[in-house]
Amino acid sequence: MIRRARTLLLGVAASALAWAGLAASASAASPDGMKLYVFSSGALTLDKSVIQNGASGKTKIPVGFFIIKHPKGNVLFDCGNNDRIITDPNYWGPLAAGLDPVRTPDVAIDAQMQKIGMKPDDIKYLVLGHFHADHAGNIGKFPHATVVYQRDEIKSAFWPAPGFATFYITGDFAMLRAGIGKGMANAQPVIELEGDLDLFGDGSVFIHRAVSHTPGSEMLVVRLPKTGTVVLTSDAVYLKENLDKNILPSIGSVYNPSGMLDAYAWVRRMQDLEGADVIFAHDPDTFKAHKQAPDSYE
Ligand SMILES: [Zn+2]
Repeated sequence: MIRRARTLLLGVAASALAWAGLAASASAASPDGMKLYVFSSGALTLDKSVIQNGASGKTKIPVGFFIIKHPKGNVLFDCGNNDRIITDPNYWGPLAAGLDPVRTPDVAIDAQMQKIGMKPDDIKYLVLGHFHADHAGNIGKFPHATVVYQRDEIKSAFWPAPGFATFYITGDFAMLRAGIGKGMANAQPVIELEGDLDLFGDGSVFIHRAVSHTPGSEMLVVRLPKTGTVVLTSDAVYLKENLDKNILPSIGSVYNPSGMLDAYAWVRRMQDLEGADVIFAHDPDTFKAHKQAPDSYE
């Protein structure tokens, strides 16, 4: 209803200006120089039914990850497939054949970051949408970053609920565990969440908890000075069509089905309230339609 009303209003010049004002106010606190970079950690090829219930045939999907440049520190959202599979596909066991990941040397996260002149040590916060192999693969390359995740997700990663172990590879995140005899579990700085977080306190990078695809999935809202609001979904939403038509993935890809529909509704609300652009980790069409690093959104 709200969306239809907005569409009608946009036909009127005065209302269009009012809408632009709303978008500007939403990003008023975003600091100058803030930028969003879009990357893909290679690609996967899988049965489309995995990510959209009822679909048929194979689909080739990107593996999106993102860097936000912010004056108070660079943020990496998700970190792709473990680069180890480039030389050792057996690291992924049966997932290597099942997902057919692109394994050329140029997809390595170091090589990708070089496109924008960054090294892994330039990342201050590594925010994880969830801990699956195609999102948390390279945590080990960021030993100096503060890792930001939901407490439910790291528990699920180390010991998943029955039926939901498939995409968690313990070697991807085992280095986060402190040595024997330590009272605290974490070996490097972490921010362990049980909810949402305004990362810099200025509204420009906002983490939203969404118990959906996994027990501790989280999405990222990026409010840019010129572009306005962008929502990065990780796998809380797989495809634009899933979002628009309320289609869930197959049962193995949705830990909490009603929570995933809540996540869709939350994203649609961000579209309505702030005119948010949405970038999914795995939607090939949406991904192609966006600028890739070294290009950026300001
Ligand atoms: Zn994924």
